[in-house]
Amino acid sequence: MAGLAVILVLGGTVEGRRLAEELDRRGVGHVLSLAGRTSSPSGAARVGGFGGVAGLRSFLEENAITTVVDATHPFAEGMTRNAADACAALGIRLIRVDRPGWAAHPHAADWTWVGDHTAAAAAVGRLGAQRVLLTVGKQHALDYSPALDDVEVLVRATEPPPGPLPAQWTLLLARGPFALDDERRLFAESRIDCLVTKNSGGAATAAKLTAAHEAGAAVVMIARPAPPEGAEIVPDAESALNLLAR
Ligand code: NAP
Repeated sequence: MAGLAVILVLGGTVEGRRLAEELDRRGVGHVLSLAGRTSSPSGAARVGGFGGVAGLRSFLEENAITTVVDATHPFAEGMTRNAADACAALGIRLIRVDRPGWAAHPHAADWTWVGDHTAAAAAVGRLGAQRVLLTVGKQHALDYSPALDDVEVLVRATEPPPGPLPAQWTLLLARGPFALDDERRLFAESRIDCLVTKNSGGAATAAKLTAAHEAGAAVVMIARPAPPEGAEIVPDAESALNLLAR
């Protein structure tokens, strides 16, 4: 596939980085794009939004992109929708790397599944939880205020949310992967009785689900957005490379 394609990889995930590294190794023309949400992105060819569907369409045309691989996070809804719209309008091939979620986890049937953050906050209220571990990302933590202002919430995120936390809340800055023994300790020491998280999938952050079960904590799980229409869906970077090589 060397030299034949100019591929745009929409990254922000381990899979995106892996894919770009492998394309590099194989000498395949590509551009890795990151949103610029983390303060120190590494190895990106370009950083920052395109300016909506119109901006993305211009970028695709100006750079003669033949294929877009959307390897953004399963919950990066805006970028995924824009990529689907722009590719459909220009007739460009779209591959979506959608890593498997946790629906098949042994304890998934015990979880309270909800559609969004508002519903998740309401579910915590209904469950009567008092000490919540909130792992929904820095951008969404404050969606739970004021609903959970009177609950002890431990917000675990890689970077601080974009505003002050309510008085009862505590920030725990940490980056996965998280080991099961560390998760067990966290649940025990903080006496967590409810975990609120997104169905992100992957192994790096799955240990909390086992720790929650063992601790008898409730799990409120935010379901994934639907995959984009018109995309070839693959579970990982390797499958995307196989598709690209065909
Ligand atoms: P989002 O809501 O889908 O993206 C919002 C806007 O950010 C997009 O419309 C686009 O701006 C820009 N953008 C997003 N990904 C981009 C990329 N790879 N390259 C260039 N621009 C990008 O996404 P989000 O939830 O804010 O996530 C932002 C990034 O963090 C994503 O790349 C995602 O992979 C990563 N991430 C997200 C999560 C999560 O839980 N959501 C977790 C880990 C990592 P324009 O409209 O201006 O083009």
